[in-house]
Amino acid sequence: MHRITVAALLVAGGLSILPAAAEQPTLRGFSPESSHAERDWESKFQAMPDPAQMRAHMQLLAAHPHHVGSPYDKQNADWILAQYKSYGWDAHIEEFDVLFPTPKERLVELVAPTHFRAKLQEPTVAVDPTSGQHAEQLPTYNAYSADGDVTGPLVYVNYGVPADYDELARKGISVKGAIVISRYGGSWRGIKPKVAAEHGAVGCLIYSDPGDDGYADGSTFPDGPMRPADGVQRGSVADMPTYPGDPLTPGVGATKDAKRLTVATAQTLTKIPVLPISYGDAQPLLAAMGGPVVPTDWRGALPVTYRLGGSGPARVHLVVKSNWDIKPIYDVIARLNGSTEPDEWIVRGNHHDGWVNGAEDPIAGQVAELEEARALGTMYSQGWRPKRTIIYAAWDGEEPGLLGSTEWAETHAAELQQHAVAYLNSDTNERGYLGLSGSHSLEKLLNDVAKDVQDPETKVSAWTRLEDRMLVGGRGGAGGGAAGGGRSGADIPISALGSGSDYTPFLQHLGIASINMGFGGEDRGGIYHSIYDDFYWYTHFSDTSFVYGRALAQAAGTTVMRLADADVLPFSFTNLAATTRQYLTQLEQLRDTRDREITSIDRNIDAGVYSVVSDPRDPTLAPARETPPPHFDFSPLEDAVDSLDGAASRYERSLNSALANGAPAAGALDQVNQQIVQSERALLSDEGLKNRPWYKHLLYAPGYYTGYGVKTMPGVREALEQDEWSDVNGEIARVAAALNREATLVSSIATELGGRRR
Ligand SMILES: [Zn+2]
Repeated sequence: MHRITVAALLVAGGLSILPAAAEQPTLRGFSPESSHAERDWESKFQAMPDPAQMRAHMQLLAAHPHHVGSPYDKQNADWILAQYKSYGWDAHIEEFDVLFPTPKERLVELVAPTHFRAKLQEPTVAVDPTSGQHAEQLPTYNAYSADGDVTGPLVYVNYGVPADYDELARKGISVKGAIVISRYGGSWRGIKPKVAAEHGAVGCLIYSDPGDDGYADGSTFPDGPMRPADGVQRGSVADMPTYPGDPLTPGVGATKDAKRLTVATAQTLTKIPVLPISYGDAQPLLAAMGGPVVPTDWRGALPVTYRLGGSGPARVHLVVKSNWDIKPIYDVIARLNGSTEPDEWIVRGNHHDGWVNGAEDPIAGQVAELEEARALGTMYSQGWRPKRTIIYAAWDGEEPGLLGSTEWAETHAAELQQHAVAYLNSDTNERGYLGLSGSHSLEKLLNDVAKDVQDPETKVSAWTRLEDRMLVGGRGGAGGGAAGGGRSGADIPISALGSGSDYTPFLQHLGIASINMGFGGEDRGGIYHSIYDDFYWYTHFSDTSFVYGRALAQAAGTTVMRLADADVLPFSFTNLAATTRQYLTQLEQLRDTRDREITSIDRNIDAGVYSVVSDPRDPTLAPARETPPPHFDFSPLEDAVDSLDGAASRYERSLNSALANGAPAAGALDQVNQQIVQSERALLSDEGLKNRPWYKHLLYAPGYYTGYGVKTMPGVREALEQDEWSDVNGEIARVAAALNREATLVSSIATELGGRRR
């Protein structure tokens, strides 16, 4: 509280909190003189993104539903293309043909003990001018659900993750032949029907509980930002942790003549029909259920007694049928050619398709990206020449399954693996804190950029806001504070990337160092993937003055410029080494935790403990017996982390001395930069992850049973979590080999840089 008062006084006194260019430190990867020139261009750049333009562009791009296959999706792509051309970029549209199912038949009805038919319709809200565009809106559904017509007893499965089914088994409840009803949340939505089908369910309903994004968290739309009773979250349920993109063309671009799987042989469609419903439609179903009362933390916020169901009396009839059409998608690809290193590419993207009008998701990010492009184009006309080539993309088809980015990345895989330095993604944007995630070789760069972008509400840097949140543990903060309290100035850790947006094909399939950024954490909302995510909602309840849109454009554009202009690409491997050491410690602890848990459960089973504590009127069965893990040999991984650590420190020393005395001549650092470009590739494995060879990165992957949530060192971690003990040592060896490749490469770059010392 005290700090805020001081900051407010400084602002009121007209003092700039961000230091002036002259007193700022030399930028990573730049010589002192090139750093100075870069800072001049960056401050010109940061003055250009314009909130009024962003507002006008959002109003236009979100004026009608713009999902894949809709006329307005194509119209937006054409409009974005024309913008890039008018900004001076070399731009074109790249088209792909993808499987995109749309609803043909949808029915949810309670057939016992009473009859109720779900509305499955989001109503017009009088004050919201686009909410009434029903003829253009996609009905509420989950894309890539299997077709089906099923009837069965209803079972409540909480969030529908594997641990929830263990809990159900202990209450003696099976979902075989049942229709499950799951809350949204707790995992990515596609996990819910996948796990339900694995346990024998025949159908799956997913509803938005008001405890998660409805009235429990604030007033509902249009009085407030939260989900109204009939609001529904659409979304894809394709098995993205197996592979994203067009289900019919895994691993190759969905071009006109691509070889395609049939719908029947595609691996990523669900095995059972699934449909999302509102809490208005869910309440009568939940109220009709019998069986034991759910565990306390399974309860939502509806005024009903939540029960597990099972044998009855509630029975539901579910019908889902889709038109299984191939639809065109339109990626806008724009390029500014590099002056001295045109074969090194910096790629930046944000999707343009929405589920309906999609103002917050994705137009809030799209309008920031457009303003970056306008500013970079303007500077180009003023004489700025990026060393490297900059490619800006507006992706189509992100919502159904990262279609536009994945098909483009697969089509251009060979040239991207040769030329792409980094990929920078954004998607949604709101008020609050700068969310930073990505490859840890870029952690220092992102920290540096966050220090040079001003937070519009507090006027301190976006970085200071993040550090201070860590100290006090505010909303979304880590909590607890740094050791000893107070500001330490140490790098703020960025999160690892799982999935859920367009960085996935670049990072996890092609091994291109990637970043995801966006502001958030202060706006509540319950309009995600509904007809109410529109211009009216955004301009009443989110970044209403578009100052956070401007801050996103400043942060993302500054990152792109630094990557495009640096003498030596601004990667750092010390943070990567430190992060891999943390992952290693977590995995060793995970093994020991699993050992303790399983041993204690098995001992209690042997002693008959579970039957003694079970209430005979509400019995709970013992958990299943498991085999505790043996000891594993983590030493290859320990050695590899040490090697990377040593190489990374040597690299830092060489980098600092190589640039201290001035900018090298163009081309002098080609060899060094080309090796840095390959540094993320060294972390890939050709054979990919177990059961999902499309995913080739050995450090970062979406969890097979979490979806969006990341699993770091996924081969080892998932083997430990899923009791696949016989896989662990082999997976340790694979990760160790990747880190050793990285250490060898980084060491050779350090030597090369050292040889350049003047
Ligand atoms: Zn999005």
